[in-house]
Amino acid sequence: MFQDYALANLTAIDETSNFYVLRGVDLHNVKGLLSLCAIRELTKGEVLIRPGEISSRMYLLLEGKLRVFLDNDEQEPIAILKPGESVGELSLIDKKPRSSLVVADEASKLLEVDSQMFWSLVQSSHEFAINLFSILAERLRGNNAAIVEINRLQQEYKRYATIDGLTGLYNRRWLDEILERQIERSKRDKIPLTLIMLDVDFFKKFNDTYGHQAGDIVLLELGKGLKNFFRPTDLIARYGGEEFTAILPNTSEEEAQAAAERVRKAVSQMKIEAMDGTKLPQITISLGIARMKDSDSMESLLDAADKALYRAKKAGRNCSSF
Ligand code: GH3
Ligand code: MG
Ligand code: MG
Repeated sequence: MFQDYALANLTAIDETSNFYVLRGVDLHNVKGLLSLCAIRELTKGEVLIRPGEISSRMYLLLEGKLRVFLDNDEQEPIAILKPGESVGELSLIDKKPRSSLVVADEASKLLEVDSQMFWSLVQSSHEFAINLFSILAERLRGNNAAIVEINRLQQEYKRYATIDGLTGLYNRRWLDEILERQIERSKRDKIPLTLIMLDVDFFKKFNDTYGHQAGDIVLLELGKGLKNFFRPTDLIARYGGEEFTAILPNTSEEEAQAAAERVRKAVSQMKIEAMDGTKLPQITISLGIARMKDSDSMESLLDAADKALYRAKKAGRNCSSF
């Protein structure tokens, strides 16, 4: 609600000497202008500014406290304004709709500066313009900080989206990204790259016999095992179900075969316990090895590893094949 003009409330004008936007401003010069501004009083909870609203007013907070929200008041406020601070300058300058929600946190009193008054102040006081610049610059920095934080959160969410929930290994989504890059790099630097695809033997039967939960424990333990049995530089992922992949950068065919056999043996000797501590039977895996050719794309390399895996299964399982 609007109250009388500041002219009738000269004490309000005296309070304006504390205003950030009026710092260094010769009040004698602008007092006349400021005394023409309306005083606005808000009760606790009253909305001053709504997102989307078109308005060409800025406000100087004389008394009370305002909460500024990005969009709605379900989230934490992005700022709390105290006497001496101002709000609403940006929409006044760029004439775009309001982007935030501003609510009185307690009974508050404001000086309302309309567009005409605002530009008169800019013209009559150099300091007013400079203060305004620094307020806007500070807001911009705040926005930059918010953007940095948003980027950080996006990276974090992306990380979660590339991790397999059961085993904690990387998932297929991650593999798709990494494999593409590894292939490019190996081609460019002319270094060998090998992809191994491995799959638990007769896992359906295992699940049927010991239960899906026991099957999950096997996959979890297998994931941990693979991390230990491959070299730290090899990149392991859960491709899906009971299938896993390992990218072996800078690895020759012979080295890859030796690695596949070492891992196969190690897995066949793993001791896995069920939740209740009882021993689960040993599992075995079959492995398909594919060495990248110059003509390979990600799809063709994955396909080659898959075909090699199929040959290992056909050859009787618990073995590796090219
Ligand atoms: P093969 O030796 O030819 O690989 O036989 P298989 O039984 O392992 O292969 P098949 O593809 O027929 O079965 C795969 C099984 O893996 C079926 C599915 O229930 C099981 N499986 C896939 N994902 C999970 C999982 O997350 N948890 C559990 N417990 N089982 C899974
Ligand atoms: Mg299987
Ligand atoms: Mg399978």
